[in-house]
Amino acid sequence: MRGMTKQKRGKNSVLDISFCEEKRRRINEFADAYHAVMDLQTQQLRAAIDHDTDFSRFDDLIHMAKQKKDEAKYAVIAHISEHRCW
Ligand SMILES: [Zn+2]
Repeated sequence: MRGMTKQKRGKNSVLDISFCEEKRRRINEFADAYHAVMDLQTQQLRAAIDHDTDFSRFDDLIHMAKQKKDEAKYAVIAHISEHRCW
């Protein structure tokens, strides 16, 4: 839902900076990538539990998902250090 951010506290307050849209977007991307890794790991565990002998097929997918998660994480860190919007 839009319009929930607190924008009535003045443009230069710390609160407004902490609601940096760009940071929020990047953190959402990081969260999505993080959950993608967890989903794949859950699927792999389930396959192992279900006696799926090919459960290692998830390894490559997990590896790629982890790389994507790390890129998203570094994008958050890079943005914060550039923009100083802690
Ligand atoms: Zn920012």
